[in-house]
Amino acid sequence: MTRIAIVEGDGIGHEVIPVAHQALELLHPEYDYFPVDVGYGRWEQTGCPCADADIAALKTADAVLFGAVTTPPMRDYQSVVLRIRKALDLYANLRPVKSDGFDILIVRENTEGMYSGIEEIGPDRATTLRVVSRTGTERIVRAAIRCAGQRRGKLTIGHKANVLKSDVFFRDICIAEAQNAGVEYNDKYIDALGLDILQHPGAYDVVVTTNIFGDIISDVSSYLVGGLGLVPSANIGDRYALFEPVHGSAPDIAGKNIANPIAALRSAAMLLAHIGDQEGAERIESAIGTVISSGILTRDIGGSAGTWEFGEAVLKALGNCP
Ligand code: ATP
Ligand code: MG
Repeated sequence: MTRIAIVEGDGIGHEVIPVAHQALELLHPEYDYFPVDVGYGRWEQTGCPCADADIAALKTADAVLFGAVTTPPMRDYQSVVLRIRKALDLYANLRPVKSDGFDILIVRENTEGMYSGIEEIGPDRATTLRVVSRTGTERIVRAAIRCAGQRRGKLTIGHKANVLKSDVFFRDICIAEAQNAGVEYNDKYIDALGLDILQHPGAYDVVVTTNIFGDIISDVSSYLVGGLGLVPSANIGDRYALFEPVHGSAPDIAGKNIANPIAALRSAAMLLAHIGDQEGAERIESAIGTVISSGILTRDIGGSAGTWEFGEAVLKALGNCP
């Protein structure tokens, strides 16, 4: 029996994940779906944002559909999503950005770099250690090369090697792996890449980069497709996989029924593709396309439909698909 963990999390996760969950239920009523409650809301209620038992529950799933969690700016609050990524060793964060004329996959290293968690705040100085390991770099670039092999076979390495020694290390390992695999590659400074990806999106296939650069580049690239409400992501390790929108919990719009559920729906589509149902994934994508073409749009992309109105239209289109 295929088991899917459903984590709404916080903020708009409570609005967009139920839509994506319904789409999965519609396509696969035979799967076993079970909720896992983690995040800031859970912390407010119980004093614990994510227990060991929650991690254990996530590990029993074939895949996790995840909303977003709020990380409050408290010094001793440990980010739940970072904890989950580490516990499940979800080292590759895949963020597809595609539309007419371009199809880019951003492959972000997900476990180290600026998010090493090795940091301290002193009275006059704060430091964060940027860790780039050989093992971490080899496994992310190999994942990116595998993705390129299933796509158009071109790899771009994003880095800041002109300033950061840790990125000289990252770039050189990536180049060696690309040469070894015989994949076509180029490399670009991450700041220049940020502009070029907006100006010439069609020039890119797979972009591999370190943790925070990947986060920023994918938010920037989401401009190409209409914003954060549209971009899904996969967090993949060798054993576990978690699918979540690129956006966060968006506390500013939470509870207002205006969040765009497309990123969550597309995350559900990536989940299906990952567990082997490519056709189901395509059905979700095409249902989204049908609804957009019919003029039903949420506010962030120029319409006035609410989260549920849009979601119901997608579910209806899914139901009508052959
Ligand atoms: P977090 O700390 O959880 O990441 P955040 O304040 O950074 O939260 P994000 O979720 O990253 O917020 O979103 C940034 C902005 O993009 C929000 O202010 C919101 O207005 C917009 N946004 C994000 N997701 C959506 C969505 N699904 N639909 C519409 N607008 C969105
Ligand atoms: Mg954010």
